[in-house]
Amino acid sequence: MEIIQNYINGEFVAPKGGNYFDNIEPAKGTVYSQIPDSQSEDVEEAIKAANEAFSSWSGLSIEARGDWMMKFSEGIAARMEEFVEAESRDNGKPIKLAEHVDIPRAISNFKFFATGIQHYASESHEMVGIGINYTLRKPLGVVGCISPWNLPLYLFSWKIAPALATGNCVVAKPSEVTPYTAYLLCKVMEDINFPKGVLNIVHGYGHTAGDAIVRHEITKAISFTGGTTTGKTIAKIAAPMFKKLSLELGGKNPNIIFDDCDFDEMLSTTIRSSFANQGQICLCGSRIFVQKGIYERFKAEFVAKIKRSKVSFPNNPKAQLGAVVSKSHMEKVLSYIDLAKEEGGTILAGGHQVKLDAPYDQGFYIAPTIIEGLKFDCRTNQEEIFGPVVTITPFETEEEVLQMANSTDYGLSATIWTNDLKRAHRMANDIEAGIVWINAWLVRDLRTPFGGTKSSGVGREGGWEAMKFFTEPKNVFVKY
Ligand code: NDP
Repeated sequence: MEIIQNYINGEFVAPKGGNYFDNIEPAKGTVYSQIPDSQSEDVEEAIKAANEAFSSWSGLSIEARGDWMMKFSEGIAARMEEFVEAESRDNGKPIKLAEHVDIPRAISNFKFFATGIQHYASESHEMVGIGINYTLRKPLGVVGCISPWNLPLYLFSWKIAPALATGNCVVAKPSEVTPYTAYLLCKVMEDINFPKGVLNIVHGYGHTAGDAIVRHEITKAISFTGGTTTGKTIAKIAAPMFKKLSLELGGKNPNIIFDDCDFDEMLSTTIRSSFANQGQICLCGSRIFVQKGIYERFKAEFVAKIKRSKVSFPNNPKAQLGAVVSKSHMEKVLSYIDLAKEEGGTILAGGHQVKLDAPYDQGFYIAPTIIEGLKFDCRTNQEEIFGPVVTITPFETEEEVLQMANSTDYGLSATIWTNDLKRAHRMANDIEAGIVWINAWLVRDLRTPFGGTKSSGVGREGGWEAMKFFTEPKNVFVKY
C-alpha cells in the first residue's frame, strides 16, 4: 500500500509525529493508501523552507519563472495516465472525466500562468506637469493554498500556478479526502528538478494542518476553496492578522430555462450541469426553474433520460456517474433526499443509494435524483447539497423567477436559457451571481474573473485577478 509523504524543501518526508490515516477509494469503500496526519510542526518546517527560498525565487526573471510553470505543465502531461488514474481512483469520478476535464485543466492552469505572467504589466498614472506615479507589483512572500476534494488537481493548480508565477513561495494543503494527485505533483517536482522550498505540500486534516497554515504569522495570504462554514472559520483567524484572503465557497446555483430556448441543446447541457462529477461541482445548477410553457415537456424528457443514465464504477468507460467522494458525504446527500421528502417533494428519478456488484459493493453510489414540488424557500432549495440531486420548479414571469433565483444566501453562478437577447441581458444584470452563462454552462476562459458574491465568497481568481491577489501594489511617485 502506498504511503503518501509530505514534500518539504524538495524532499519527501514523513510527518514528524509519524501518524497516518486511511485514504479510501470511493468506488470500493476500501483503504488503498495512507495519508500523513501532519500537525503544526510539519507546517512550521514547510513555512521555514518556503521563507528561505523566497528571495531567490522572487529574484528570478519573469521569463525564468514562466519557464518553470511550463515545465510543470509538461511534467504533468508526461505522467498523464498516472494522474488520470489517480484522480479517478481518489475521487470516484468517471475516468473519462478525469481524462477530459481534470488533468487537462491542471496542465492548462500552469501553461496559462506561464505565459500570463509575461504579459502582466502594472499601471502608471501621470500628473501632467508635476510628475509620474508608477505601481510596482511585488510578490507577497509565503502564501497558503488550501483546496477541496471535488476537482482536486484542477483547483489545487488553479491556486498554486498564479502564486508561484508571481514570485511567491507556497505551502499548500490538498483536501485530505483526495491527496493523491497533489502527491504526484511532488513527483513532477522531482522530475523537473524544481528549486527546493518554493512549493511545499503538506497533507493532513483541515483543523490541524490547514489551520496551522492559516494561523502562521509568516503566511501573508490564504487562497482557499471549500465550504462556506470553513471559509468563515478561516476568515475569523486570518482577517485580524490582516492577511489577504481569497475565499471561493459554496453555491446553490439556479438554472433558468425560458420557453423560447433551444430545447435540445438546453436539455443535453442541463443533464451535464446537474450531474457532472456526481453533482459535486460548485458550479452545478442544482435548482432548475422552467417556464410553464415547456415545463411538462422538460420534465418528461429530463426524467426519462436521467432514469436511463448509467451509474457505475469509475473505470467503466460507459459510466456517466461514478461514486460520490466519501461515505460521510453519501450519507449527507441521502439525508437531504429524506429532508426533501419531509418537505413535501416528489422524487421523479433516483432518490436512493445504488449497490453495484463486488468488488464495488461497498462503494458510495447514488442514483441521479430529480425532485419536484418543493417551495423555493425550503431548506432543500436553500442549502448546498453538493451531490447528484436537483429540484425542478415551474415559473411564469421573469420577476417571479428572479425572486426565486436570488433567494439563497449563495451567489456563485447562474445559467439562463433564452433566445430573447434583451431578456438575457436583463437577467444577467439582475441575477446575484459572480458568473452567468447564457445558453451554455461551464465554458471557462481562464482570463475571466472567477468567484462568487454573498456567501459564495470574497475575491476573484483567474487571469489578472489572481495575479493581483498574489501581489502587493506599491505606488512610487517621481517629481518631474
Ligand atoms: P471544506 O471546506 O470541508 O474543505 C476545503 C479544504 O479546507 C480542505 O483541504 C479542508 O481540509 C480544509 N479545511 C477544513 N477546515 C479547515 C480549517 N479550519 N482551516 C484550514 N483549512 C481547513 O470543503 P470540501 O473539501 O468539503 O469541498 C466542498 C466545498 O467546496 C463545497 O461547499 C463547494 O461548493 C466548495 N467549492 C467551491 C468552489 C468555488 O470555486 N467557489 C469550487 C469547488 C468547491 P480537510 O481535508 O480536513 O477537509
